[in-house]
Amino acid sequence: AVAMALFTRDLRVHDNPVLAAAAQAAEMLPLFVLDKTICATDYLSPNKAAFLVAALADLNEGLRRSGGHLMVRHGDTVREVCRLVRQYAVDEVHIAEDVSAYSRRREDQLRTQLAAANCGLRVHTGSITVAAPGRLTPSSGRDHFAVFTPYHRRWAQLPVRTPLPVPQHIRLPHGAGSEPVPAATDLTTGATSPELPPGGETAGRRLARDWFREDISTYADRHDDLAGDATSRLSPYLHFGCLSATELVHRSDLSAPGAAAFVRQLCWRDFHHQMLAARPETAHSDYRTRNDHWHVDTASLAAWQTGRTGYPIVDAGMRQLAAQGWMHNRSRMITASFLTKTLYLDWRRGAKHFMGLLADGDLANNQLNWQWVAGTGADTRPNRVLNPIRQADRYDPDGTYVRRWIPELAHLRGRDIHRPWRWHADGVGGYPARIVDHEQAACDFAGIRQHE
Ligand code: FAD
Repeated sequence: AVAMALFTRDLRVHDNPVLAAAAQAAEMLPLFVLDKTICATDYLSPNKAAFLVAALADLNEGLRRSGGHLMVRHGDTVREVCRLVRQYAVDEVHIAEDVSAYSRRREDQLRTQLAAANCGLRVHTGSITVAAPGRLTPSSGRDHFAVFTPYHRRWAQLPVRTPLPVPQHIRLPHGAGSEPVPAATDLTTGATSPELPPGGETAGRRLARDWFREDISTYADRHDDLAGDATSRLSPYLHFGCLSATELVHRSDLSAPGAAAFVRQLCWRDFHHQMLAARPETAHSDYRTRNDHWHVDTASLAAWQTGRTGYPIVDAGMRQLAAQGWMHNRSRMITASFLTKTLYLDWRRGAKHFMGLLADGDLANNQLNWQWVAGTGADTRPNRVLNPIRQADRYDPDGTYVRRWIPELAHLRGRDIHRPWRWHADGVGGYPARIVDHEQAACDFAGIRQHE
């Protein structure tokens, strides 16, 4: 029999249910399609394209070690798959289960069109998330969990499957030629972030190895310490599936320091995925209606995007995003709260900007975290507002994080750096004055009751 492993965002050879199942067949085709629909959307930013291309090249190398190689095609995924199915008389196509409206549609179309070509489709769960979306439902009878804590309680009790080994021998059908993986510049135009991490499974596994060996032990205590940078930075590798979330959970020794807190974050990832799977429209529309009337203010939006709001803790986060294609989770919360609850701009504007720069930019995690912060999502305290000054004092107590990203303010000592307007009401050294007074702006926001 001939099988096809259709890679999507599971770009790895370790613990890959799609690859492992397809490799059972006498011959198999490993395929990735650069889908023209995805390439034409905001999703494929220069940072993502660079990370993706590196991940594809690395996957190709990984497959070569087992005697195969990756076939890469451009165009419409369903059409390309069907074409190759006919050409190589493929009996069964394997693909990972995914959650977005686009991937659901792709799966439906593949099922119909492959059936017409007399070819089977097997959709593998546990490839992108740990728990299959929809696997856990609340006792209330709803089709998904909207509150994290009870979801986490049930999720933590699920058995974790043993990671799958790398297939040893891959045999491609006769004539299955290889083509070079495209260059990132073939896919997008525009500059990548100067400190973008290297894409691919090899880089991801190296990072994960060091994480488990050394750094995870301080995670519980230090994950919110902005200057300490003590989180795993595994998110882009998880987004593209260069690492398996299931394998990371499996490798976490829950009795060791930091591990339970880390695994809990992986549960947040599953939580948002099961929400998006149940409500795919929430990638664009509010999960919960708040009847908000967002302001429209292009100057404020531009100041926020470029790290020039005059609030150093906000601007530091936005500059980190531009420089690294990644931002610390605490900064993501502070900057998102500032956009939606201080400037009172629509969360979709912020989510779009993040998506254009984050290498880990992920429809489930990005959109639903944005909604969580904006108060239109699953947060049980939707009126909570993060006070940028208090957050800065708490999570960057001596100003090291801000000083790293805003050298214009480096002369201000300790916590003074979080309040530059006290010394420089009109800005200093090119760093701007505040575009808004948070206290005043937050008072104007009708629903606000809790400040943190
Ligand atoms: P760690 O702290 O080491 O956590 C380990 C892993 O757990 C992460 O790699 C990630 O896969 C997962 N995780 C951690 N926190 C969350 C969370 N709150 N929700 C879902 N999964 C989580 N994460 C993305 O992967 N892609 C996004 O596009 C994204 N956009 C966000 C937008 C906003 C406004 C906010 C507040 C958060 C967003 N997050 C997103 C969640 C989180 O900020 C990042 O996953 C995290 O900062 C990545 O860094 P890390 O790998 O060092 O995380």
